[in-house]
Amino acid sequence: MDFELNEEQKMFQSMVRDFVDNEIAPCAATWDEEELFPHDVVKKMAEVGLYGLHMPEEYGGTGDDITFVLAVEEISRGCAGLGASYVTTMSLAMNSIVSHGSKEQKDRYIPWVIEGANVSFGLTEAMAGSDVANLDTRYERDGDDFVLNGTKIFITNGAEADFLVTFATKDKSLGYKGISAFIIEKDFPGFSIGKKEKKMGMHPASAAELVFDNCRVPAANLIGHEGQGFSIALESIDTCRVCVAAQAVGIAQAAYDASVAYAKERKQFGVEIARHQGIQFMIADMAVDLDAARLLTYRAAWQIQTTGKASAKEPAMAKLFASEAAHRICHRAVQIHGGYGYTREFDVERLYRDQRITEIYEGTSEMQRWTIARQITALK
Ligand SMILES: Cc1cc2nc3c(=O)[nH]c(=O)nc-3n(C[C@H](O)[C@H](O)[C@H](O)COP(=O)(O)OP(=O)(O)OC[C@H]3O[C@@H](n4cnc5c(N)ncnc54)[C@H](O)[C@@H]3O)c2cc1C
Repeated sequence: MDFELNEEQKMFQSMVRDFVDNEIAPCAATWDEEELFPHDVVKKMAEVGLYGLHMPEEYGGTGDDITFVLAVEEISRGCAGLGASYVTTMSLAMNSIVSHGSKEQKDRYIPWVIEGANVSFGLTEAMAGSDVANLDTRYERDGDDFVLNGTKIFITNGAEADFLVTFATKDKSLGYKGISAFIIEKDFPGFSIGKKEKKMGMHPASAAELVFDNCRVPAANLIGHEGQGFSIALESIDTCRVCVAAQAVGIAQAAYDASVAYAKERKQFGVEIARHQGIQFMIADMAVDLDAARLLTYRAAWQIQTTGKASAKEPAMAKLFASEAAHRICHRAVQIHGGYGYTREFDVERLYRDQRITEIYEGTSEMQRWTIARQITALK
């Protein structure tokens, strides 16, 4: 057993940390306040290789799954909204193309991402949230095209994506077996972006409606074969859960760092508040939660790296624990900051809002518990 990162991973982590401290963290409050997506910083991230991470080597990709998770953690520490966008492009959306795309699809879309394209993953609909197979978006074949009709909601990167991976059913009565996966480019006829949600947090990354109104998709943009869409979606979600866990760890690290620094500086009753036992206990609990969340996250990433695929259980355990640990840590961070923690002058207010979604997207905490228990009991 070895709890150390290797030299290459440590060097990359240190490079990303510096990049985040210089280019991302100082702007996070402004991007949050103004709901800005930082296209220029995404280009810089691509220039330093962040969009090539864990992409196939033959396309110029570098780094392993653990290095990728380290990058997600650092970016999310600096700006959780940008972290959400990054994870959606690099894992949730691109997993489907990297694992199941044709050579033509890989040749077109992987180099585009390595240069810093934004990608979204459109699965959720009004009646298909936790019940992801209950899609109403339909497709039919028409000559050399597929034609899609329907609306997706809450889609991260929805307003910024250059292209997207989406899912539709041929016939709802077929259940999950009727679902197929498609790649849509933003200028395909019949595709448009609908309402952008006003969200609690993660402001830099949009959550938008995607509208398909007789949207024509070349047959070559079907991923895998017809009927394979549901298993492609689940595989992408299982893999990406490790990234949501890493996002939560990054947010929690930022809240923890801010709290320790504040507790050592702020004085009440004539001493630094870090000398009061009530504050010390909170800091100790935060440190234990953070370590445990990180260990579960790295174990799940290590498992993907060593076996080549995500299992259902370990990523769900990492996501469940890390997101709920981040909740506890951000709650305590606001408490340690007292009244100031409730103002926008201090980062912990934003971190508290940003953290909340990690318990909801990529499957709610209830769905993670369900997934874990089903794996343990193996009941059909
Ligand atoms: C900011 C944001 C970004 C998002 N990004 C994306 C994206 O990029 N792509 C995408 O496809 N989707 C995205 N989503 C959608 C997200 O994945 C869903 O919101 C989430 O899966 C929950 O679905 P729902 O909102 O319909 O809640 P519901 O499924 O309606 O759940 C409501 C409540 O009921 C509980 N519940 C439901 N069924 C059960 C059950 N069987 N047992 C116990 N409890 C249950 C849930 O846990 C929850 O507490 C995003 C959502 C948000 C808010």
